[in-house]
Amino acid sequence: MVEIRKDYFTERLSIVTSERALRPNPAKQVSAHASKCPFCPGNEEMTPPADLVLVRKGETLAKQTDTEGELIKDWIVRAFPNKYPIVTPSASPSYGEYPHYSEPAIGYHYVLVATPKHGEHFAKVNIEQWTNILASVQDKVRWLYGQRGVSFVLVFINSGKEAGATIDHPHLQMVTVPRLPPVVELEAINVQNSLNDLGICPMCQVVAAESGGPRQILSTEFYLAYAPWASTLAYEFWIYPKRHQTSILKLSQKELMDLSLILRSTLGGMAKALGDCSFNLVIHSSSEKKTTKQIHWHIEVFPKLTTWAGLELGGGIYASEVSPEAAAEQLGAASRKELAQLVGIT
Ligand SMILES: [Zn+2]
Ligand SMILES: [Zn+2]
Repeated sequence: MVEIRKDYFTERLSIVTSERALRPNPAKQVSAHASKCPFCPGNEEMTPPADLVLVRKGETLAKQTDTEGELIKDWIVRAFPNKYPIVTPSASPSYGEYPHYSEPAIGYHYVLVATPKHGEHFAKVNIEQWTNILASVQDKVRWLYGQRGVSFVLVFINSGKEAGATIDHPHLQMVTVPRLPPVVELEAINVQNSLNDLGICPMCQVVAAESGGPRQILSTEFYLAYAPWASTLAYEFWIYPKRHQTSILKLSQKELMDLSLILRSTLGGMAKALGDCSFNLVIHSSSEKKTTKQIHWHIEVFPKLTTWAGLELGGGIYASEVSPEAAAEQLGAASRKELAQLVGIT
């Protein structure tokens, strides 16, 4: 059974599945030695065949596909269906009515292994590799939007045990859903209302308001990283394109490289300032479905130093023990140092 259930009263959604209970014990898995790691080179047979494998061919990169029985070994990025998916293309089409509203959790759940190196923290992944990762994400996201029943693709990273990672080899995940996730839908409604009423994108306004202010962390040619005014966790930060852009699929090569630079600098800065902490990273990008409202795409990063507790779960009120201004000062100093080093090296 795999279904999306909606809360009695609110727009909150739950994916209820029984299959994932079969996956290995997360506590054991996270500390698995590299020789047993299903994401390490040499262990390709431990995962489903990959349908996107990036390999080096002399000076250039080539995209290849695993075929059954012939797995590509020398890869630099590898994407394949999750062995224990939270949604599935074969979910049985059953629907429930209020108050037990449900719809089938039809979709795809992909894993994208970010580097062949087991112990390489995201904060250490170099800019060239970040560009490979992001280009592969674009490729896979584009493909997923072409599949049946896909209304939205959520791209995210769970890094570290506190962030819910079950395997510590750096990887991204992509989960598709047959509707907009409530958080993205709320953003889209606000953008649409503001565009209709005032002719301005509210997210563009926020970028302008936070530029050069006390919550700015880092500014590059095309992107701004800042700590949001009402953070939900200490040291939370967001990365926004400075110009209005709706989708991560619209990036030029220059923007892709600059995004790699700001990601590497801020994640590197975060690791220096806070230690190699667990974190979640999510990409909010507009749906490619023509009928869906658009947003100003962006990235949100949640360092997991503390956990949401009673106030947060019970009231939807988030206690952040570090002010966004103080967080920006610390993360900003560390991120600018990383950036200076990276630009100095390249
Ligand atoms: Zn590994
Ligand atoms: Zn905008």
